[in-house]
Amino acid sequence: MTEPRSFRVEAVVLRHADWGEADRLLTLYTRERGKVRAIAKGARKIRSRKAGHLEPFTHVTLQLARGHDLLIVTQADTLDAYLAIHANLIKTSYAAYAVELLDRFTYEEDTENYHIFRLLTEALARLEQESDPWLALRYYEVCLLDILGYRPHLFECANCGRQIKAEDQFFSAVQGGVLCPACGKGLPGVWSVSVEALKYLRHFQRSDYAAAQRARPTPEIRDEVETLVQKYVTHLLERELNSPEFIKQIKR
Ligand SMILES: [Zn+2]
Repeated sequence: MTEPRSFRVEAVVLRHADWGEADRLLTLYTRERGKVRAIAKGARKIRSRKAGHLEPFTHVTLQLARGHDLLIVTQADTLDAYLAIHANLIKTSYAAYAVELLDRFTYEEDTENYHIFRLLTEALARLEQESDPWLALRYYEVCLLDILGYRPHLFECANCGRQIKAEDQFFSAVQGGVLCPACGKGLPGVWSVSVEALKYLRHFQRSDYAAAQRARPTPEIRDEVETLVQKYVTHLLERELNSPEFIKQIKR
């Protein structure tokens, strides 16, 4: 079956970069084809009709045509510009982090993944609507790790498999989850995690968003949860960048 010359996608703009004199190279996460890159010709010209639709984390429908090497945007329509995100610096930074995280964890040659696309658009809508967007972002992180296959073990010790009790624990990024005090104490490279922070992480992991929203962590616990997840994500991304991507490049 030959691929059509031109096709329509629903997408979120992850980022853009200048390309040539007046064009932009867009990185998109599409509902139909996962991550793709496409050129928006003339998007940097002042009166370009397309430009407004193609800012980062805008939800759009695009008509894409095959060029010589790259896809070319021939038509762009905005589904949601998330104006309330752009109007608020904290929300803007949260949305930028959400799309960057997805960008770093996915590859262009991946196939489509509707769960990721839906998670992203839901997260952006929540970031736009919530007066306190912190939870929306943490929930997105936990769900994204799940979908990508990096769900951390939070209910059994990642080393000995025993059920985790209601006490302070350790976390091992290398082993992908919580270690009981017997396994984790004194081990190099593990972080301590309080019973309260673990409680919230477990709650996010097994709840829908409405239930997750009922959590009311204190500022200290918020900081702890945020730091823990981000250290875990950083560990995963370093591994991602150093090994699988390097191997893929060699294979090309
Ligand atoms: Zn253990």
